[in-house]
Amino acid sequence: MSTARRQTVTTWVGHVPVGSAHPIVVQSMTNTDTADAEATAIQVAQLARAGSEIVRVTVNTRQAAAALPEIVARLHDLGLNVPIVGDFHYNGHILLREYPETARLLAKYRINPGNVGAGQHHDANFATMIEVAKEYGKPVRIGVNWGSLDQQVLARLMDENARRGSPKSSTDVTIDAMVESALESAAYAEKLGLPHDQIIISVKVSSAPELWQVYRQLAPLCDYPLHLGLTEAGMGMKGMVASSVALAPLLAEGIGDTIRVSLTPEPGAPRKLEVEVAQQILQSLGLRQFLPQVTSCPGCGRTTSTFFQELARKIQDYIREAMPEWKAKYPGVEEMQVAVMGCVVNGPGESKHANIGISLPGTGEDPRAPVYQDGKLLTTLRGHRIAEEFQELLERYVEERYGRARVDV
Ligand code: SF4
Repeated sequence: MSTARRQTVTTWVGHVPVGSAHPIVVQSMTNTDTADAEATAIQVAQLARAGSEIVRVTVNTRQAAAALPEIVARLHDLGLNVPIVGDFHYNGHILLREYPETARLLAKYRINPGNVGAGQHHDANFATMIEVAKEYGKPVRIGVNWGSLDQQVLARLMDENARRGSPKSSTDVTIDAMVESALESAAYAEKLGLPHDQIIISVKVSSAPELWQVYRQLAPLCDYPLHLGLTEAGMGMKGMVASSVALAPLLAEGIGDTIRVSLTPEPGAPRKLEVEVAQQILQSLGLRQFLPQVTSCPGCGRTTSTFFQELARKIQDYIREAMPEWKAKYPGVEEMQVAVMGCVVNGPGESKHANIGISLPGTGEDPRAPVYQDGKLLTTLRGHRIAEEFQELLERYVEERYGRARVDV
């Protein structure tokens, strides 16, 4: 990407740097009952293994707060030290004080300024959480949400707006109030002594155009790292498309230091899908590389069998499954480009641009599949084992190309 990232301070969340020129961080959140330490640790492990670099868990009850040390211990036993963020609403000031070990083990506290208590309690509760953050040297995320906006700030801005000659729309005032709430809370946290580089801000809404508006308004007003996400993005394809549409323009403008895709999982679907979608958004924008990119054509009337789709799916799944091992053994393999094309119209051309690519025979074409490697024709596959043989060639390529790179280093 040619667009420069917005300049920010760097905030450390555990061992993960967020902001400045550091890679944009992928986050996720569990949906288990945090009080169930075993189930939560299993899901955190799944998310971390899928590539989530920070995982948030809700800390909503005493039982949940009490379970945190066991969750962290279980992850430690699995060899995972992914930073765990505690999500607090309403009672964070109580739980963080009552469970000091949990406060110590969490890598960051998420505070929603709209959910820390009303009236005189608001500032006192907020201050207690900031005191704990200072005590344990933890960063906080000031996380404002459309659905739980601080009503005092909103009421104040609505009153001011009513006195204007030409009042703004209520949506614009609400967006102003969200930005104001986040920045006022951050300023208050700093006044209480929290260092400037221990604050991350998010201001989440559930519509893409409003997300663009709110972050474009917020970004020039501060140098805190920003967490991006479309809240309540929805389920399945709707959620994935909505999140991509919402996040991509901002990321392309250099806004956003960490992201989460808030998908409602389909019943029985793995939670890790939200991590894979987040990675794909960053990878499609050319901002990060997580796994080799498989370029496949959409197919058309020239590909009348399902063989081509099956091969594309098989290669994609194979790469995703192999990645944890490849990543450790073959540095740089995530940059690899693989092409799986349906016929000779665009097949050889795309294959030549990829590290390795195959062009399958279209309907009526000779039953042969030329394979190109590093721009040159490597071989032509024929017969019933085209898929298996291409996978073998791919394996060999990875080993020779990226295994050698490791030795050369
Ligand atoms: S490469 Fe061939 S099969 Fe694929 S979309 Fe183009 S013409 Fe159709």
